[in-house]
Amino acid sequence: MKWKRKRMSQLARESMTHLFDLAEKECVHHPERAHRYVKIARDISMHTRVRIPHHLKKKFCNKCHHFLIYGRTCRVRTKSAKVVITCLDCGNIMRVPFVREKKVGHSKR
Ligand SMILES: [Zn+2]
Repeated sequence: MKWKRKRMSQLARESMTHLFDLAEKECVHHPERAHRYVKIARDISMHTRVRIPHHLKKKFCNKCHHFLIYGRTCRVRTKSAKVVITCLDCGNIMRVPFVREKKVGHSKR
């Protein structure tokens, strides 16, 4: 039973990554398809109770769930150790702190 759940979550993550890849390809010419892929990925996440991988979470608006195309459907600004992403479809503002990345960058230098 345990391995089955593990396999399922792995499959879910794989298909979510695949869906976001597709969304990225389609977003320029068919944004509505990209939004649909995001919806399917969210449905998979909810049904299997597998979280959407962290790096994919930043790729869609958490209010209207539209796929975010940087510089096209969203505006990205940095402000005091935070990345501020504004969705141009619904005006939702998301803040992603990058303190950790900043520290990593410093220690490397
Ligand atoms: Zn939005």
